[in-house]
Amino acid sequence: MFVCPLCNQIEQQQYICPNCQQAMANEGRVMDYFDDYSAYLDIEGMKLFDGYLNDGKDHECPHVFSCLKCSKQVVRFIDEVEF
Ligand SMILES: [Zn+2]
Ligand SMILES: [Zn+2]
Repeated sequence: MFVCPLCNQIEQQQYICPNCQQAMANEGRVMDYFDDYSAYLDIEGMKLFDGYLNDGKDHECPHVFSCLKCSKQVVRFIDEVEF
């Protein structure tokens, strides 16, 4: 099976804020986060976004990352690993 290394705390991935080059914090999966905060999300590849909730075939887990300094939020698709 494939699991997300972030959800399962196998490893942490760091992303750097495009605005201020600070490390961004992992806020968790988009599905857990999206309802309240969707208005603020700057989603890269928005066209992909509509489909992914039903789409497990690519083994990617979308996570929200936020910058601790400027509060910018982005979504990154984390590659799941075979477990
Ligand atoms: Zn995940
Ligand atoms: Zn920032």
